[in-house]
Amino acid sequence: MPEISINAFFTAYILGGMSVVFALWLYYDRRDRILCDRQRFRHAYRCIKCGELYDRRGQREVAPCPKCGFANDRLRF
Ligand SMILES: [Zn+2]
Repeated sequence: MPEISINAFFTAYILGGMSVVFALWLYYDRRDRILCDRQRFRHAYRCIKCGELYDRRGQREVAPCPKCGFANDRLRF
């Protein structure tokens, strides 16, 4: 069995641990960015005819109400 010094062992141990943390950080950062991009283009609408509050995905300015079908502009905050 090859002998390794205690310093080399702890250096490899710490570098291995840091590599795992760095890999997990990259994975979750990329995953959150993909989820955020999906949620970003979601807009809220309020029907001025029946009062229904609903949301739609996409870049549309006008979306029909699911209850009565009236076309409403998206809410601006
Ligand atoms: Zn409606």
